[in-house]
Amino acid sequence: MGEKTCAVCATEFADQPAYLMQGAQWGRRRWGRALLLICRDCHDNRRGYCNDDHKALPVRWTGLVGRGKPMPATLCTACGLQVVRNGDPLLRRVTCSPSCSTSLTRSRNGGKGSGAPCETCGEQIVTGRADSRYCSPRCRQKAFRQRQSHAQA
Ligand SMILES: [Zn+2]
Ligand SMILES: [Zn+2]
Ligand SMILES: [Zn+2]
Repeated sequence: MGEKTCAVCATEFADQPAYLMQGAQWGRRRWGRALLLICRDCHDNRRGYCNDDHKALPVRWTGLVGRGKPMPATLCTACGLQVVRNGDPLLRRVTCSPSCSTSLTRSRNGGKGSGAPCETCGEQIVTGRADSRYCSPRCRQKAFRQRQSHAQA
């Protein structure tokens, strides 16, 4: 896909594996639990990274997601990103992010999209629910931000 980037250094993963970390992300006022995708360099250089100076780096993490042993890099079932994570007895398939798990759930429900043009970019919507208005989570977010900025203006 080439559009997912490291949460720390913003490097595109391209064909590098992404390390899926159990972590936290600085919101406006406090830390919130988050799953982070980081590159191998950031993973190796800042093992168990935790920095209270959140302005320097608005993310921190405790370790790989999952409770078992580290798994070899596995492709995200939804987007094809290579993911490194720990195994888990409950793990049925590897996904890289909540949005990828959601898109899988929707496609299991038979979602082939509405076939209508995306309200953000105009591409035909071929995945997701039958009433979907956007072609991708990215477009949905973009529309959401636009609505927010109009509301503030
Ligand atoms: Zn990085
Ligand atoms: Zn994915
Ligand atoms: Zn779109």
